[in-house]
Amino acid sequence: MMRSSRFFWGDRVMGDLLDVEALESGYGLIQVLWGSSLSVACNQSVVLLGVNGAGKTTLLKTIAGLLDARKGTITFDGNDITRAKPNVRIASGIGYMSELGIFPNLTIEENLQLGGYFRSEKENRIRADQMYDYFPDLREYRKKMGGSLSGGQRKMLGVAKTLMAHPKLVIMDEPSSGLSPKFVKKVVEVLKLLHEQEKVSMLIAEQNVSFIDFAQKIYILDKGRVTFDGDVEELKQNDTIRETYFGIAH
Ligand code: ATP
Repeated sequence: MMRSSRFFWGDRVMGDLLDVEALESGYGLIQVLWGSSLSVACNQSVVLLGVNGAGKTTLLKTIAGLLDARKGTITFDGNDITRAKPNVRIASGIGYMSELGIFPNLTIEENLQLGGYFRSEKENRIRADQMYDYFPDLREYRKKMGGSLSGGQRKMLGVAKTLMAHPKLVIMDEPSSGLSPKFVKKVVEVLKLLHEQEKVSMLIAEQNVSFIDFAQKIYILDKGRVTFDGDVEELKQNDTIRETYFGIAH
C-alpha cells in the first residue's frame, strides 16, 4: 500500500497526502463539480479560491464524505477513501471545519469535547489545554455558549474544535466569512502559526485573497472546474485573475 512519503516521477510529485482526481459531485439533478482535481502534500498549506457558487463548499463536503462522489477518486494517506463514511475519514486524519464551524448551543468546553469525539477523555483534556494555550479567550469563556462568542472568537473555536482530533489535514470552508478585515488578518495569523507549530496540512476554501500569502499552492475553482493551479507569484502575474480577485485591470 502506498503511504504518504513523497517521491518524484518525471516532474510529478507522487504520494501526496490528499489526491483528488477528476471529481464529480452535486445535489440531485444539479451537477456542481465537473472533474475537479487537486492535491495537498504533507505539511503543505493550500488555498482554494473561487467566487460565490464556484463549488468550493461542494468540493470540501465531498472530500469530507458529506456528499457522495459521482465520479473520480479521493485518495488520502495512500488509501482510496472515495466511498468511505465521514467517520472513517475523520479517524484517518481528515478534519473538516464548515462555514459555521461550531455548535452555538453548546459551551466552548462541549464543542471541544465533540471535536475530540473519537479520542479518550484523557487525550481530550490534554488537547483542550493546548487549544486554550493557543486561544486564551476560549479558556476564559469555556463555560459560555458558543453562540455568545464574537464572530472572530467563533472562528477560533471552530479551528480549535477541528484540531482536537489531531488531524493530518484540516479542510476549512471560508474561515473569513462574516469577519471584519481586522479579524480576517487575525485568523490568517493564527492559521499561519498553527500550520507551523502543529505541522498540519491545510486546505482552505476562500474568496478572500488575504489568505493567499499563507498558501504554498493555490487553486482556482470556476463553475466546478479547476482553472488555475500555481503559487502566489504565478497567480499575481495572471491578468484575468488579477482583475477578478484583486480588482486590478491589466
Ligand atoms: P459560496 O462561497 O457562496 O459558499 P461555493 O463556491 O462554496 O460558494 P457551493 O456552495 O459549493 O459554492 O455551491 C455551488 C453550486 O451548488 C451553487 O450553484 C449552489 O447554488 C448549488 N448548491 C449548493 N448547495 C446546494 C443544495 N443543497 N442543493 C442544491 N444546490 C446547491
